Amino acid sequence: MKEIILGKSVKNKEIKGFFFGDEKSFNKTLIIGGIHGVEPQSKEVCELYIDEIKDKPFLKDCFLVLIPCINPDGIKLETRGNANGVDLNRNFPSNSWQSVPLANNNAYYPGVKPASEPETQIIVNLLNKHNFKKIVAIHTNHTIQFPNPPMVNYDGEQSRELAEKLSVATGLIAHHDIGYPTPGSLGCWIGKDLKKISVTVELDDTKTAEELYSKHKNLFEVGVIES
Ligand SMILES: [Zn+2]
Repeated sequence: MKEIILGKSVKNKEIKGFFFGDEKSFNKTLIIGGIHGVEPQSKEVCELYIDEIKDKPFLKDCFLVLIPCINPDGIKLETRGNANGVDLNRNFPSNSWQSVPLANNNAYYPGVKPASEPETQIIVNLLNKHNFKKIVAIHTNHTIQFPNPPMVNYDGEQSRELAEKLSVATGLIAHHDIGYPTPGSLGCWIGKDLKKISVTVELDDTKTAEELYSKHKNLFEVGVIES
């Protein structure tokens, strides 16, 4: 395992990536947690997985970059967005990006332009550097405007197979529609525009990270191995 500082947040906090396996392998996966600061379990389950695998030989023919916390300022401030109040999951440079937050709800503020935020730029740069085959984003189903159940959500038909395998591994339903529009989301950009495999796992917000990890830990290994 290699621990690499990928960049810094608005408030100058280091954002770390944990690199596993062979960079030359065909099966490259990016897993991201802590995108929304109000979903701390999404960060903590990633840290539990790192703790479990860091001293073991990594899965054969696989390459993984795991970013447990892309939004450290939001986690500290306990806000959905980053320190600029930008919802990172509405700030990606997708064709669907729009400047006006949905339903005038500032919780979804998309920023002044696509990829305006340093945290978003880290993901964009990483995508440009490594030809990831698939991206798995970990969230919890924190309700802001629309209630939605825990699920494995996916963008684009090419993502369905991995979503269905993760559904079997976790016991969560697989669904292509999260129930509301998400312009500028990671899934829109990766799955709909770049046509790569993009899965968003929404874990149960009412459970602790330890409970979630013991129940759904297979999601990491299945997410990495399946190609
Ligand atoms: Zn979220």
